[in-house]
Amino acid sequence: MGRMKPVERFYQAIAKSVIEKPKKGIHVSHIARDCLRHSYYEKHLGVFLTPYTILNFWRGQRLHEPPILQKHELELEWNGIHATIDEYENGLLLDKKTVVGDLPKEVPPETARQLEYYSVILTRNRYPVKEIQVLYISLRDNKLQFLTIKPRSRKQVEKEMLARKKILLGKGIPDRNPNDQYCLNCAYGLQCFTMT
Ligand code: SF4
Repeated sequence: MGRMKPVERFYQAIAKSVIEKPKKGIHVSHIARDCLRHSYYEKHLGVFLTPYTILNFWRGQRLHEPPILQKHELELEWNGIHATIDEYENGLLLDKKTVVGDLPKEVPPETARQLEYYSVILTRNRYPVKEIQVLYISLRDNKLQFLTIKPRSRKQVEKEMLARKKILLGKGIPDRNPNDQYCLNCAYGLQCFTMT
């Protein structure tokens, strides 16, 4: 085998950095995803990424590095559900998201659910949450947008979290949800539509 070209070495280096910290156990991102079947495959088959998505992840990770608030990348757990909180300070929960296209005008439902779940885990760990914001950063033109989320009642959100965890840990494969916003680009399409 010949020497690797620089482009191969570049992809190899960023691919390694993207998978540096594989998620152990059940994480908020697993249960917040619209399609729980996707999360089931991720847990059982591992993470599949194209070179394009590896690059997007890598750029997103770099933008997450600088701390903004007092608590940065705060790792917490509640009822076996793990969370890494981007930023927290004095009642403000701040999440950072990157987009490759236009900045969103409102927070998509899946992201709102993810932030509600983070809020529950913070509160249950004695970090009260008074405000939830998402900072969107456009990778195309560096524009920024802060959006605020009004969460549902904590009781309702906690019940949903536990129910979704139960489905994910159940014996069967969770139902498909082709309405998931990322379904068209799902890396498990073949497994999903050829298995029961
Ligand atoms: S292909 Fe669509 S329905 Fe199937 S696991 Fe992926 S996101 Fe879910």
